[in-house]
Parts: sequence; structure tokens; C-alpha cells
Amino acid sequence: MAYMTDILYFDNAATTAMSKQALETYVSVATNYMGNPSALHKEGLKAKALLQEKRESIAQHLGVQASTLTFTSGATEANALVLNNLIWAPQSGHAVLSNIEHPSMKEHARILRQLGWSLTFLNAPHGFVNPEDVQAALTEKTRFVGCMLVNNVVGSIQNVGTLVSLVREYQKKSNRKIHFHTDAVQALGKIPFSLTELGVDSASFSAHKFKGPQGVGLLYNIDPALQPLSRGGNQENGMRPGTENLAGIAAMGTALDEAFAHLEENSQRVEKINHFLRSELSFLPILSPSEHASPYILTISVKPLPSEVFTRMLYDRGFCVSSGSACSNNAKQKGESVLTSMLVRSDEAKSSVRLSFGYDTTFAEAESLASTIKTLYRELT
Ligand code: PMP
Repeated sequence: MAYMTDILYFDNAATTAMSKQALETYVSVATNYMGNPSALHKEGLKAKALLQEKRESIAQHLGVQASTLTFTSGATEANALVLNNLIWAPQSGHAVLSNIEHPSMKEHARILRQLGWSLTFLNAPHGFVNPEDVQAALTEKTRFVGCMLVNNVVGSIQNVGTLVSLVREYQKKSNRKIHFHTDAVQALGKIPFSLTELGVDSASFSAHKFKGPQGVGLLYNIDPALQPLSRGGNQENGMRPGTENLAGIAAMGTALDEAFAHLEENSQRVEKINHFLRSELSFLPILSPSEHASPYILTISVKPLPSEVFTRMLYDRGFCVSSGSACSNNAKQKGESVLTSMLVRSDEAKSSVRLSFGYDTTFAEAESLASTIKTLYRELT
């Protein structure tokens, strides 16, 4: 790793360090662009031009129109922007969510229920939401379906295209719009996908998962009825008022250029690391599915040892791994509930350790991780 030599970092699904090039872009834009993109003077127009240039290059990578993209502070905000449309809807209805969504999706359930929405949470047996379960959940009142593209706990790739087709068929019959949203945070820059082929109405992304800066993200949306979350100026066509984080957005663009330039080669390398660890650790239960899964995430169980004990011992030896998603204090419980909804046994879920790889994870680092896990496990059991 370029500038973290004493740390063996296997927590790339939580966040990644900015790439050198992205950081250079950040510094260059932060120092050379003094204008507000909404200002009408020369510096403002220069900033506005860069913003548009970045929107277009990101849109090109995603294969969508630039006008469908809204820059946000991350995926949490992008997810909130979409779900707030249910909160503000004049009438409550029914929403379907997978049980393996990130808390930035799932945590809206309580307020939605308070507002009279009925919610159906779908389990994902062995990592995957069943299309038949989505079909069975749809009712005349369904207005929203949310299912992530790549799960952040085990890496399973959901069959979003099929789920969207089923929803569209139902929508045709019932003649009522159903908004389909996918959280594609763990997919962008890691696995190939096409938003237009998937057919979703909206999708969310976060730059720091692909070596861009933290606090910058993206919402893709083609639903003309979508309303903004906050009110203010006309930035982002009014969809996300507030002065744009130009340096962050530009750095996200650079990080995405790099990720797309090396998508295939990165994926093949990480795939080898994943296979190597699967085989080295095959004496342990492997909770990530072996097929239809992102190679960037490998979750194992170190039962009967509690995950926090094992992860702490790994930290002491210089490794960064995760025992669940790193998004809140009770993240471990949330990670466990995701695993339970995948029908993972509770003793295995309580001992889960997520290893997540990045573009610069090396084979030597993986070898070191495998041998440390083996030694530790033998010592402790
Ligand atoms: N969705 C998923 C699947 C994630 O993994 C994350 C990051 N942990 C988020 C949403 C939220 O992203 P951010 O914290 O950058 O807003």
C-alpha cells in the first residue's frame, strides 16, 4: 500500500484511503477554483464548467444522461433523499425493502410506520432476495421497492434487473407508479453493471468506497416526481440545494476514472485473493456466497469465538477488518440481523468477520492475513 505500510488494511468495504491522483485533483481544485459554481463572474463560471465536466464524465462511466445525476454528501444522503419522498407523500402506502439493506435505508422504517406506511421486509435466504418474494409482496398500495445491488455484509449481488422487471409488470397491471431504488454503493467501481439495463428509478453511490473522498456521493434518478430533501438554492437543479463540494466532486470523478480504467484487472486480481483466502480458510464457515458475489468482500465465521474478540486480536497484529458494517455503534447487531435474515445460524453470525479488499490489496498481505487467522484460531480454540 502506498502510504500505510505498517497497516494491513482489509476493511475496504467500510472506507478506502483516497488515491494519490484523487487527492491531487482535490488539492488542485480546492486551491485553484475560488468561485462558487452559482456565481455569475468569471471564477463562478469556471467552477460551474468543471462541475458540469465532472457530471458528464461520471455519467459516461455510468452510461446515463448527466442530467440524471445529483451530487450529494454520500450515499446516506442519497438514500434519505429518495426515502423522504415517502415521508412527505400526501398519502401513506406500502413499501417493500430487503432485510439486508444498509441502515441508511432500513432505519427509515420507524418513521414511515408512524406515518401510516405499511412495510414488508424481505429476507435474503443464503444472501439473495427471492424474486418470488418480491412478487408476492406487491399490493395495490405498493409505491416503493428498495433492494441493494451488492450487499455490504457478505457481498452477494442481488438480481436487481429481475426484481425491477417484476415490479414493472405489476405496475402496468395496477397502473400505479412504483419507485424502484437500488443502493449501489458496494458495486460502483467494483463490478460491471448498467443502470439502464437494470431499469431502476434511482440509485445511490458514495465516493470513499472507490478511493474518492469521504463526504461526497451521488444520486441517479429518472423519476420526475422525486422531490428534494432540503430547501434552498437552485443548485443541482434544486434537487440538492447548498453550495457544491467542487473539490470533492472533482476528486470523486478522478477516482472513478481510475476505477473504470482498471475495473477488469482489479477485479481479476481481487478474485485471486478471494479464492486464495477461501481455500486457506476453508476449515471455517464461509458466509459469503461462492457465486453471484462481489470478489471484494469475504465474510467468514470464527465460531465459537465472538467476532469482537477475534477482530481485536487481529487489530493487535496490525490488521484492519470488520465485524459488521462500520456505520453505527450498534453496527455489529445490525450486521448480525442482516446475516440472520440470510438464514445464517446465530452462532455463526455472532462470530462473523468481514474481510474486504481494495484496489491495492496485495497477495502478500492476503498470505499474511491467512496465516495470522489460522494461527490465532488454533491458539484460541
Ligand atoms: N450503503 C451501503 C451499502 C454502504 O456500505 C454504505 C457505507 N457503509 C452506505 C450506504 C453509506 O455510505 P456513506 O456513509 O458514505 O453515506
